[in-house]
Amino acid sequence: MRMHDKVAIVTGAAQGIGECIARRYVEEGARVAIADIKLEAATETAKKLTAAGPGEAIGIAMDVTSEKAVNDGVAQVAERWGDIDVLVSNAGIQIVYKIEDFPFADWKRMLAIHLDGAFLTTKACIPHMYRKGGGSIIYMGSVHSKEASPLKSAYVTAKHGLLGLARVVSKEGAEHGVRANVICPGFIRTPLVEKQIPEQAKELGISEKDVVEKIMLGGTVDKQFTTVEDVAEIALLFAAFPTNALTGQSLVVSHGWFME
Ligand code: NAP
Repeated sequence: MRMHDKVAIVTGAAQGIGECIARRYVEEGARVAIADIKLEAATETAKKLTAAGPGEAIGIAMDVTSEKAVNDGVAQVAERWGDIDVLVSNAGIQIVYKIEDFPFADWKRMLAIHLDGAFLTTKACIPHMYRKGGGSIIYMGSVHSKEASPLKSAYVTAKHGLLGLARVVSKEGAEHGVRANVICPGFIRTPLVEKQIPEQAKELGISEKDVVEKIMLGGTVDKQFTTVEDVAEIALLFAAFPTNALTGQSLVVSHGWFME
């Protein structure tokens, strides 16, 4: 088992990509905290994962935009399991508007969840990793860490920002054996994306079918959605990789939508 006895915190893991990453880690023997704004859903997910084993999971309440909630949640995990070996900063939302219509409050909310959340969880977890002499921090970026799309100014700005944060953390963390990397998925049919299909159809004045076939999958090599399982496999690679050889990187998993 590649994560036997490792302790991981995955934010936004009550559902979607985070849930699948947490499941993959538990399959590999990890102890995983499902940190989500929805405690009840996080606890339900944790119960399912623990029942499947061989690792175990707990649900914890964490709004990643609140410094207190992040610090309390991380302290709770450290108290229960002693260490924190892996952080997956995954919680995220999507809000789409043309830039001239983008409400400032929504812009700030987007940056708070994606960027403040990544910063606050990193800041809270990294002392535990330094104390132990190692750790892996994984940020959930997107193809939108490298590419732009209309209507997504806040999302694209935030996802680009995560590349910078990961590079700084990889430089600061190296002497302590702490690595930082970014996963950049293409479109995956999670609730976050299902919600966007009618919204984008409305904003762009096209059909929902065209949003899926032209906007979401138009650039892929095979018109396929990426899956949560694809992303979880990369999250396992980054979490279990044993040396600083793999740090400061971003890996695109998108059916060729974006090629570097
Ligand atoms: P999802 O299914 O909506 O799951 C995200 C989870 O995060 C939800 O449980 C959500 O709760 C929770 N959350 C929202 N705000 C939070 C906060 N402030 N603190 C803690 N948890 C919070 O989304 P997903 O598709 O799995 O996306 C996960 C990550 O992958 C995001 O960072 C997203 O940008 C990125 N991503 C997604 C895709 C895609 O195609 N799906 C592609 C590239 C990157 P609520 O349901 O209450 O909001």
